[in-house]
Amino acid sequence: MADCVFCKIIAGEIPSRQVYADEQVYAFEDIQPQAPTHVLVVPRQHVTGLSEVDSPEAVGAVMAAVARIAREAGLKHYRAVINNGEQAGQSVFHLHVHLLGGRPMGWPPG
Ligand code: 5GP
Ligand code: ZN
Repeated sequence: MADCVFCKIIAGEIPSRQVYADEQVYAFEDIQPQAPTHVLVVPRQHVTGLSEVDSPEAVGAVMAAVARIAREAGLKHYRAVINNGEQAGQSVFHLHVHLLGGRPMGWPPG
């Protein structure tokens, strides 16, 4: 989609540090990491956010990729976060899961 930062990253128009890729999913390091591991896992197909999802395929592929990336990184304790909507902290409106790990995390989140 035009003017979507993550669509441009997927298309290679904006550089990124790739962590994982398959037919449906692209994953790359967050530009402002909030933990020693901070990977963004996104569906290749543009979806604005979780609230726009109406079938399990894209989200299933994304979550399976999150688990695989964590496993391959040797991460056993991690958090997978989806911010949906501005008040929840969403700033890029292309569905993405934050994979955060490598440090202790508090609860509740801010
Ligand atoms: P959100 O706030 O929407 O949940 O998360 C968006 C994330 O995208 C933020 O953690 C932010 O650091 C990251 N981000 C924004 N622009 C870029 C970019 O151009 N490249 C990379 N690698 N990450 C980005
Ligand atoms: Zn997009």
